[in-house]
Amino acid sequence: MRRILIVDTTLRDGAQSPQVTFSVEGKVRFAQQLERLKVDVIDAGYPALSAEERAAVERIAQSVSSTTVMALAHGDEVEIEVAAKALAQAPKKRIHLYIPVSDIHRRYLLRGGERDEVLKTSIALVEKAVSLADEVEFTPGDAARADEGFLKEVCCGVEEAGATVINLSDTVGVAIPSKWYRVVKGVVDALKGNAVVSSHCHDDLGLASANSLSAIEAGASQIHGTIGGVGTRAGNAAIEEIAVALKIWGEELGVECLLNLKEIYPTSRLLTMLTGCMLPSHKAVVGDLAFVHTIEEHRMAVVKDHRAVQIVDPQSIGRPSSRTPITRYAGRMMFEQKVHELGYTLSEGQLSKAYQLFSSIAWKKSDVTDADVAAIVEEVISEHGSEWELVSFSISMESGCAPRAKVSLRRGEVEVEEEAEGNGPVDAAFKAVERATETTARLVDFSVRALTYGKDALGEAIVRVKLGNRERVGRAVRTDVVEAAIRAFLKAIDE
Ligand SMILES: [Zn+2]
Repeated sequence: MRRILIVDTTLRDGAQSPQVTFSVEGKVRFAQQLERLKVDVIDAGYPALSAEERAAVERIAQSVSSTTVMALAHGDEVEIEVAAKALAQAPKKRIHLYIPVSDIHRRYLLRGGERDEVLKTSIALVEKAVSLADEVEFTPGDAARADEGFLKEVCCGVEEAGATVINLSDTVGVAIPSKWYRVVKGVVDALKGNAVVSSHCHDDLGLASANSLSAIEAGASQIHGTIGGVGTRAGNAAIEEIAVALKIWGEELGVECLLNLKEIYPTSRLLTMLTGCMLPSHKAVVGDLAFVHTIEEHRMAVVKDHRAVQIVDPQSIGRPSSRTPITRYAGRMMFEQKVHELGYTLSEGQLSKAYQLFSSIAWKKSDVTDADVAAIVEEVISEHGSEWELVSFSISMESGCAPRAKVSLRRGEVEVEEEAEGNGPVDAAFKAVERATETTARLVDFSVRALTYGKDALGEAIVRVKLGNRERVGRAVRTDVVEAAIRAFLKAIDE
């Protein structure tokens, strides 16, 4: 069986999505989760970009125990040195070089670099990087639109120079599976076999995962992707889609992928928690509705044998089951057992908080499902000792008048009450909170969604604010979405 290596690039390419904002701390937590997911390589970032990016790559390199950490360097030797320095403490260091090779990208992104110049620079940069890292990955950018002869020339040149991985990038997401197969196969056949061939696909045609699988069939042994397929424009290939496809079809394709599938769903939830990015509910594998059946016959079939209508058991990818709801009468022991069953480990203090929150929610909701318990636990885990506490709030609305919100907050011994008007109830509440806390946070984005099904579903609110020039994210779940929104806002400004 040929082993397929997985490179997670959520922290670099994924973070180019305007919906994905990580703090340095958040990046470290996410990288540690990627290690539990058992990805082979963590694409940690582009250290030459900024001091913050550099700090994040350094922290990730220090925080993982066995996974290879990769850092990007674009065009020159200084960037390679910066990347190597940031990776110094990684268990295994990989430097990633990126150079566009299609004519259109050479013209507009390299400011007129001629083909022979591009080839010479690529070889020189690889030679430099080889002396500073355990592994060197070279990406010929926009490979799908490059002249195939020139692409092969560059790939053979950098293989000769010592690149250990050649990562063909469909930078603009234009490829279809048959085309991408030909491009990858062409390079695999042209190389001497010293370098691993890799594929990096974008989803502009909704084909990134399909193209990645085509690349595997063509002989690629490494795939780049992001969790939930997040990324610039339409995003990247979704790691979870490829991993589940390989679980189903790996044997037939003669390949295997050693990802720890049980950690797929927790990783996608952590992404939402840390960045505020909500994945589309119909997204394959990780979307909220990906395993919801509406056809009665299918529902009955799932109960008898899920394989009849479901290609994968949701619990095998770490999704909490909603088959055994717990009721409001559940005691602390039963709650604790459920938390344990879902794979969470909480401290005594966290457990008490989670139970308290569970009890208050359970009285407003007929059944508390596993997904609800998971959301409650995640809220408690993500708390970071916020200063402000919501004591109470009220909203008054009448048609023809602007909604008014009154909030009462507590910080230590001090209790503050403020009122404000707004365009809607949530806007009014945010304004009242701003007055009470005397912050000048600028709201960047606010979203709310039902976490589970039914009229008493738990609502999850995610608030993204800008304080100074830093973006912060807050998240909260409650049965009442206005309350969830206020709590999420308080978390965001308190972080
Ligand atoms: Zn990309």
